[in-house]
This record gives sequence, structure tokens and C-alpha cells, in this order.
Amino acid sequence: MVAFPKPPFEGSCLCGSVQVSATALPLLTFACHCRDCQKFSASAYSLTTMFPSDSFSCTGELITGGLGSGGRTHYFCKSCLNFVYSQIEGADQRINLRTSVLNEAASFVPFVELMTDEKMPWADVPAVHSFSQYPRSLEELQALMDDYSKR
Ligand SMILES: [Zn+2]
Ligand SMILES: [Zn+2]
Repeated sequence: MVAFPKPPFEGSCLCGSVQVSATALPLLTFACHCRDCQKFSASAYSLTTMFPSDSFSCTGELITGGLGSGGRTHYFCKSCLNFVYSQIEGADQRINLRTSVLNEAASFVPFVELMTDEKMPWADVPAVHSFSQYPRSLEELQALMDDYSKR
């Protein structure tokens, strides 16, 4: 097992125009199997690493995309259209970074998987916690973050 890297965590989009950095440890890592994420990520599931907003910085030109609904804002590199991160209304203290943009992405193993009801049958993820839907409450999310911090 490779040691987990230490902050700051750096990363970039496909073309390198957008650079990201996080100075804090991640709050949670997860894979989402929902149909929206499958389309969004052009893959079997999306990978997210959640960071405290105040630890996160990003340079380069971004545009917003996605469904533009549900109070979620999704940011993409303006040049290469790589999906970089999302911000959820009412959860301004956290940002959801797309794990794949991190330089050490492979170290950010998904701790939780969500929406396994919509999972592609062969898309297995080595998550510790598995949810058939989304976590129902903020308490449930907090419990996951607490458990993640103890790993
Ligand atoms: Zn780019
Ligand atoms: Zn999803």
C-alpha cells in the first residue's frame, strides 16, 4: 500500500489551462454510479474528492455546464472542457473536486459509492460504504466524513 500523499494536492485539467490546489486533507472520496454521472463523466461512474472550500484554489478560465439545476454549479475548463469541480448551493463550505484532475488521483481511492441502484453491473469499486441511493441527510454525510477521517 502506497502512503497517502501529503497536502498541498495539485492538479490540472487535460490541457493544463486550469490548475487546482488543495491545502487541506480531503473530507471524503466517493464514486457515484448515477445515470447523470455516467453521462457527465463519459464513463461508468464519476470520482469525487471533497475538500473544504477555503483550502481550495483554482486558476485559469472556467465555464459552467451540466444541467444547471438543483442548485449545483459544475465548472469546466474553458479550453479543453475538462470537468474540474462542482459547488452545491447550501454546502458552500465544501467543494467537490473531480478526482481525476489531481496529479496523484490514484491515491484517492473512493471510500464511499453512491447510487448503486443505477450501477453498471461490471463497474466495481473498492468502497468501504455502499449506498443504493444518495445519503439521506447531512448527519449521514457527516458520519461518513468522520469515518473517513479515521481511516
Ligand atoms: Zn483545460
Ligand atoms: Zn451521480
